Amino acid sequence: MSMNLHINNFSHLKSCGTAWLIGCLAVICLPAYGLPRAEPVPGGVAVIEVASEATSARFGDRPVLLTRVDDKHYAIIGLALSTAPGTYQLALEFDAETRQTLAFEVKPKTYPVQRLTIPDDRKVNPYAQDMDRIQQERSLMDNAFLHFREGPVITDFAVPTRGRRSSSFGSRRILNDQPRSPHSGMDIAAPSGTNIIAPAAGIVTAVGDYFFNGNTVILDHGQGLITMYCHLSATTVKLGDRVDRGDGIGEVGQTGRVTGPHLHWSVSLNNARVDPGLFIQTDPQQELQ
Ligand SMILES: [Zn+2]
Repeated sequence: MSMNLHINNFSHLKSCGTAWLIGCLAVICLPAYGLPRAEPVPGGVAVIEVASEATSARFGDRPVLLTRVDDKHYAIIGLALSTAPGTYQLALEFDAETRQTLAFEVKPKTYPVQRLTIPDDRKVNPYAQDMDRIQQERSLMDNAFLHFREGPVITDFAVPTRGRRSSSFGSRRILNDQPRSPHSGMDIAAPSGTNIIAPAAGIVTAVGDYFFNGNTVILDHGQGLITMYCHLSATTVKLGDRVDRGDGIGEVGQTGRVTGPHLHWSVSLNNARVDPGLFIQTDPQQELQ
């Protein structure tokens, strides 16, 4: 079976309007939501249409998000920034005996180099006594990104805060003249105290004050779709809280490793940090840097 790659520009977004309601009076009427934009590159997302009978999907050693939009079924695969371009396999399971693999291509993408000066050099070159804390926080966050909670998932997001969005996702960073990990999220510049909302329903799986990320909240939206909010001045949720789309979770700040007040927003799918811009609609009110 050949791969069916679905390019989507939120054309599936539709509200539960009157005409549609009349058409589905006899069935449970659930609103249809959009898919993320397909961009099968390192740091992007592959959206692959699959047979409706598929019960689970795997990419490498990770389970993959399956969703239904307008009676079509899709696997949505996160592609880590470290993914080499080439051909990859999505493994589908239908029942105990029936399996299928679908091949898909990851295309190359080159990200720019970004040089930043961090005023607090300890956040670039931590002291020896910082290392235990850094390791502990890293393993806590790694575990949060590995959650896979069954159930329906909404894969188009509200923008978590108002402000100027940076397109620096994936940029190869040089901090205080030293190479560091590529930028794994979207930065939204906004004054300290600006409200941050949950972009979709989820469960709070981590809240803390971390060495690099400052005050941080992690939300689990289900099926391996996880989002993280960093550098907050204040958090307004606690571990285990359930939030709905639009609920406040904290305020923009400049805690942790920063050059100024902003929200760092990460989106993770099957434990791959991907470009959050693929999950939101472009808002002409908010210019890209
Ligand atoms: Zn950032």
